[in-house]
Amino acid sequence: MEIQYRQSTVKGPAEWFTGDVHFDVVFRGEDPMRTRVNTVRFAPGARTAWHSHANGQALHVTDGVGLVRSRGGEVVVIRPGDVVWTPPGEEHWHGAAPDRFMAHTAIWEGDETTWGAHVTDDEYGYPEGWTA
Ligand code: MN
Repeated sequence: MEIQYRQSTVKGPAEWFTGDVHFDVVFRGEDPMRTRVNTVRFAPGARTAWHSHANGQALHVTDGVGLVRSRGGEVVVIRPGDVVWTPPGEEHWHGAAPDRFMAHTAIWEGDETTWGAHVTDDEYGYPEGWTA
């Protein structure tokens, strides 16, 4: 048995995120259990760049209001308790709503995340016609 003491919060690097994003590594498994769990906190307007996960990813929203979008799809509003499952290789982004903080727990397997372009203001924002 091993106790893993809490680590310092990390600022999300500018090459992977737009805006102010911080994350805490909750768990980083090694072979054979390569599960990874991060708590990620997004300031209003902040979001990931486009990316995909080789083995997929589950996002459990824990606070605030968030937005998520897959390539070719519409923006979807997500709230605490919602779980977003992104299948292996599906390009997507996730982040806070423009006017709200958002926190989620990210759960994925292995290191293979492929990062792409930043999400433009045209690609980001509440769905058309969406009202709080
Ligand atoms: Mn993701």
